[in-house]
Amino acid sequence: MRVFNFAPGPAALPLEVLEQARDEMTDWRGSGMSVMEISHRSKAFMAVAAEAEADLRELLAIPGDYKVLFLQGGATGQFSAIPMNLTHADSSVDYINTGSWSKKALGEARHYCKVNVAADAAASNYTTVPPRSAWKLTPGAAYLHYTPNETIGGVEFPFVPQVDAPLVADMSSTILSRPIDVSRFGVIYAGAQKNIGPSGLCVVIVREDLLGRARHGTPSVWDFKAVADEGSMLNTPPTFAWYFAGLVFKWLKKQGGLSAMEERNRVKAELLYATIDSSGFYRNPVDPACRSWMNVPFVLAAPALDRSFLAEANQAGLVNLAGHRSVGGMRASLYNATSIEAVRALTEFMREFVRRHG
Ligand code: PMP
Repeated sequence: MRVFNFAPGPAALPLEVLEQARDEMTDWRGSGMSVMEISHRSKAFMAVAAEAEADLRELLAIPGDYKVLFLQGGATGQFSAIPMNLTHADSSVDYINTGSWSKKALGEARHYCKVNVAADAAASNYTTVPPRSAWKLTPGAAYLHYTPNETIGGVEFPFVPQVDAPLVADMSSTILSRPIDVSRFGVIYAGAQKNIGPSGLCVVIVREDLLGRARHGTPSVWDFKAVADEGSMLNTPPTFAWYFAGLVFKWLKKQGGLSAMEERNRVKAELLYATIDSSGFYRNPVDPACRSWMNVPFVLAAPALDRSFLAEANQAGLVNLAGHRSVGGMRASLYNATSIEAVRALTEFMREFVRRHG
């Protein structure tokens, strides 16, 4: 029996895709082998890799002057790879701090160059995005980094920043949730384990003019140009995750692409926030203008009931609703593979819980 899974990542994957991977597991397309058991340089795998990239390009309408890289090391690897590729020791870079993941990203960057925190949401306890007019940008900054969606705090930018420096975005928990204009960005990166596929893969979309600037001593597996020149096969890539991501991209196309996902994701988020706001029992602390569609944290009026809430939710087949260990409370993640039906089941359970305990 499948449960309704609200995990923040690794997260729920589309059942159809899991079933396809299962069906192909031991005899992949008549080869008598699993896709995991063949060379990444074989013609068959190269075709899988190219098709996944082409489908991702189509879904996100990625312009021709961008490279798509399929890397390892997660989004955390990119926290270092970004400054290694885009700065010198005396460069300055701007970061917007909207919560846990921006903070980690800028902490890593401090090992490489001068980091200016151009705006920090500390005053709101990281429940909002500082308005663009209040940012203190560095003239000549090598880039501006921000986290469009903070997975733990549930804070999402309601706008794409307009700045002179190349824009670098950690889209780990928002990529593919709706259409975006890739041409606004210098680099987009995302760990796969939320909206793309299994963990072990990190997708980087980089504008070509930013290639070839890596500082001396950058390991070649982190050098965007070296990786791009080898089609992300400078060394053995995570073949299974790449194959699986390709199946997810096909599934997304079949759903109607990112406009269809946007509509579904809007409905899901509105349903859950409306349930929270009208309950008088649950509370989401985030500025309504900056509420995440993908990660919805909420607390109960009586925190003593947290354990009962989680236990009863589990009983009802609604799992992985505990908030991040750093903040507690609850969090429901509503990535693409989480259906409207799952969110309906969750909101019904939440109302029923209030009737019994409220
Ligand atoms: N950035 C964001 C926004 C995230 O949500 C996460 C993971 N939850 C990371 C970075 C770190 O990703 P990884 O574990 O792939 O290094």
